[in-house]
Parts: sequence; structure tokens; C-alpha cells
Amino acid sequence: MMSSPYGHGLIGLGLLNLCYPRWFASPGKTFLVYGLVVLGACLPDLDFLPGIFSENPGRFHHGPFHSLGLTVGLSLMTGLFMILIQWKRRTNLLKIQGSKFKVQGKTENHPSYSGSHFEPSNAGTLNSYRYLNITGFVFVLVFSHLLLDFFTEDLKDPYGFPLFWPLSGIYVISPWPFLPQVMRDWTNPVFWGQIVRVFIVESLFFLPFFFLSWRLKRRGRQE
Ligand SMILES: [Zn+2]
Repeated sequence: MMSSPYGHGLIGLGLLNLCYPRWFASPGKTFLVYGLVVLGACLPDLDFLPGIFSENPGRFHHGPFHSLGLTVGLSLMTGLFMILIQWKRRTNLLKIQGSKFKVQGKTENHPSYSGSHFEPSNAGTLNSYRYLNITGFVFVLVFSHLLLDFFTEDLKDPYGFPLFWPLSGIYVISPWPFLPQVMRDWTNPVFWGQIVRVFIVESLFFLPFFFLSWRLKRRGRQE
């Protein structure tokens, strides 16, 4: 069982709009971020890949990749990675600015001026608020995948996924799975009918959320 990348992607982009209503970037950067967000929202389903190489796509599906353990670990690592990139970029930028300010004799006015010389490290330190912000968003994003899968029907044993791994290997699934599962066997006669059913049900549930978040973001940008 699984929801479709379409459903996971809609929820992921909606969460991006909700969490960062004032965020705005160039079109190129926006598409890059959108792509990364959709990838993050679908990330637990990458557990298909090792199975594909062993000619059994479902072999590792809904193992520990669909768990809180992976969600927490991935959030912490992504937050650290992003903050290190930012720190590196800012440090480099400040080095360039520092040399410019020295040439222009304006070093004293810069916030990173420490009295006797320009110190890029003053302004390039790790920002704990930003770290928590990015880590929190990645957690919410990946967790949204688990939430959707939790409410997706599963017709194969073992039902559900080990949500609390590594604390517990017990498989969980909602007693009211209202989302239809995506079939992988395209030779099955009901395959295409099921694809249409998934598209309709996910659109009904997730498109309103996405458009609402889009409106909130537009309002956030106008303020
Ligand atoms: Zn999944």
C-alpha cells in the first residue's frame, strides 16, 4: 500500500506554503526548492529502489524507511547540512565584503567589525533558530508521508509499516484507511481504473488544502 507521489507532493508543497508564507525566490531557485520538497515528501518510498535491483520492488517497502526513526534522523541531518552550506556561503561572502570594506575604509560601519579587524566568523556562526526551523520543516514534511500512508488501504500482509522503529517493530495502520492504494502490477485488469480512482480521491482531499495554502502564501507576500 502507498499513496501516490501526486498526493504526497501536493501535501508537501502545501506545507511549504503554510510554513514559509513569505518565502520568495527567483524562478530557477523556486523550482529547485519545489523539486526538493516533492522529493522529501516522497522520500520514504525510495525503499523501492533496493527491491528493484533484486527484481522484487516490494521486498524492502514499508520497512524502517517508513518510521519515526528515519524521519527524526533525516530531519537532523538535513538541518545540519543546510546550515553548514549557509554558514560556508556567508563566511565566503563576508570575506569578500571584508576585503571590499577595507579598501573603501568603511570597515567600522559593518556589523561584523570587531574593533581592530573584520571577522567573518562573527556573522557566519551557526544559527540555532534556522537549524530548528529547517529541521522542524523536514520532520513535518517526511512525517506527512507516514500520515498519508497510515490512512491508505493495504491489501497485503504485513499490513501497515513499523512507525515506531527502532523503539518497536510493530506494524501500524489506520482502522479507517480512506485513501485507495496505488497498484504496482500494471498487468492487473483493474490497474488503470485504480489509478483514476486514486487521482480522484487524492484530488478531492488534497487539492483544497493546496489551494488554501497557496492563497495564504499570496496574502503573506502582499503584507
Ligand atoms: Zn510510502
